[in-house]
Amino acid sequence: MRPLPAEWSSGDVPRCQVAVIGAGVAGATAALLSARAGYRTVLIEKQKFPRQKVCGCCLNARAIDLLSKLNIQSYLAPFSNVPITATRFYLEGRSAVVEVPKGQAVSRQLLDSSLVDAAKAAGCEFMEQVSAVVLPDKKFLNEESMPDHGSSLNSSSLNRSSLNSSSVVAASESPTKNSRLAATEHDCRLLELRSTGCSNSPESVRHIRADVVLICDGLGQTSLRYFPRLKSTAATNSRIGLGVTIARMPGDRQFREGEIHMAVSRQGYVGTVVLSESELNVAAAVDAVFLQQHRNPADALISIFRDAGVAPPEGLANSHVRGTLPLTQTTECVADQRLFLLGDSAGYVEPFTGEGMAWALTAATRIQPLIGKVLSTGWTESVADEWQQIIFRDCGRRQRICRLLSGSLRFPLLLHPMLTACRIFPAMTRMLVRRMNQISTGQEWK
Ligand SMILES: Cc1cc2nc3c(=O)[nH]c(=O)nc-3n(C[C@H](O)[C@H](O)[C@H](O)COP(=O)(O)OP(=O)(O)OC[C@H]3O[C@@H](n4cnc5c(N)ncnc54)[C@H](O)[C@@H]3O)c2cc1C
Repeated sequence: MRPLPAEWSSGDVPRCQVAVIGAGVAGATAALLSARAGYRTVLIEKQKFPRQKVCGCCLNARAIDLLSKLNIQSYLAPFSNVPITATRFYLEGRSAVVEVPKGQAVSRQLLDSSLVDAAKAAGCEFMEQVSAVVLPDKKFLNEESMPDHGSSLNSSSLNRSSLNSSSVVAASESPTKNSRLAATEHDCRLLELRSTGCSNSPESVRHIRADVVLICDGLGQTSLRYFPRLKSTAATNSRIGLGVTIARMPGDRQFREGEIHMAVSRQGYVGTVVLSESELNVAAAVDAVFLQQHRNPADALISIFRDAGVAPPEGLANSHVRGTLPLTQTTECVADQRLFLLGDSAGYVEPFTGEGMAWALTAATRIQPLIGKVLSTGWTESVADEWQQIIFRDCGRRQRICRLLSGSLRFPLLLHPMLTACRIFPAMTRMLVRRMNQISTGQEWK
C-alpha cells in the first residue's frame, strides 16, 4: 500500500483533513475541490484505475455545466465527447424521438480517471486498490486487522492513549479472544484501509485519521459497515443495473451518433450510445426476476431489444455484462459525526433520466463550504442538518420526478399512450426534459 506523506504523521497514525472514500464522479470531484481549497486530502479507491463502471455514460446539461466550471479541460481532453441531441425510444416495434436540449456521451472509464488525475495534480493523495471502512467510536478490533509496524495503529499508540480514555468503551459487537480495545478521538474519525491488491503483505492493513470523511462509495456503501443508521434501504421490486462497453461493429448502424437509443419493454429498458467511432455503451435497468429467467445478463438485454423491436448490438451476445445492486435506494440520514454521504451513497433512483452524475457533481460542489465549517469550528449538529437539507432539497426534488417517470414505465397500459404523447406533444416532452436538465443556478459555487 502506498505510504502517505511523512508530514501527515501525527503519532503512529497519519492524519489528513479530508478523507474521501470512492473515486467515482462524486468522490473524485469532491477530492479535487478539497485539494484545491488547500486541505490535506486523501482519495481512497478499492479498484485499480481506470476501471469499468455500469453507467449510461450520458451527461445532461446540468452535469456538463458543472464539469465545465471545474476547469479541468486539460485532463478531459483524451476522453470521447460525443454531443447528444435526441433520445430515440423503441417500444414493441414503434419509435419516437425526443429532443435533448444539451447532452454528451462520455466514457466513464476515461471521465473518472481524468477527474482523479486532476485531483492528484491539485495535491490530493490517491490510494487505489485500497478498500476503506470507517471505524465506529467504540469498537473491538481484531489482532489481524492491526499489524504492529509502520504507520498502522499499533499497541503502543493505543497504550500511550493519545486517545481519550472516556471514549474507550466495550462494544456490543462480538469481540474475539484476540481483540483489543480501540477508539477514535472526538476530533477526528479513524479509517481502516485494506489493500485489495496484495492481501498477504504485512503492509496490507493500515489506519488513517481524518477530520472529515466523505462517503462516496456508491450503491454498496461498503465503508459504512458499522453505521447501520446511515445505510440505505433498497425499494421493494427495485430494478438491477446492467452495463457493458463493447466494440462498435459494422452492423451496428441502427445506433446513430448523437442519439440515446432507449429500448423499452415491460421488464426493463436498455440505453445504447455511441461513445466513439469504435465503441458503444449499453446500460440497462431490469427486473430482478426477469434477469434470473435468462442464462446470463447479455441474454436478458438481447430479449429486451427484441421485445422493443430493435436489433441488439452485434457484439452484445459475447460480452461480459456487469451488474449492480438494486438501483432504487433511499438513505434517511446523510450526515453523522464528521461523516457526509454524497452521490449514489446518499440515495439513488433508477437511471431512466440519466441524472446520477449531475447529482454527484452537485453534491461534490455543495459539500465544500461545510467541510470548511467543520475544519474551522468542529462538528455541530447544525452542519449535519444543513447537509440533510441540501441533499433532500437539491437532489430529492429531481429524484421524485425521476421516480415518477421510471415508475410509470412499469405499467404496460401507460407505455403506448406515453410514446404517443411524445409524438403528438413534442413541446410538452421537451419542457419535461428541460426541467430534468435544469442548468445549475451557480449556487454550488458560493
Ligand atoms: C444502468 C445505469 C445507467 C446509468 N446511466 C446514467 C447516465 O446516463 N447518466 C448519469 O448521469 N448517470 C447515470 N447513472 C448513474 C451514475 O452511474 C451514478 O449516479 C454515478 O456513477 C454516481 O457516482 P458516485 O461517485 O456516487 O458512485 P460510483 O461512480 O459508483 O463510484 C463509487 C466508487 O467507490 C468505490 N468504492 C466502493 N466501496 C469502497 C470502499 N469501501 N473503499 C474504497 N472505494 C470504494 C467503487 O469502486 C467506485 O469506484 C446510471 C447508473 C446505472 C446503474
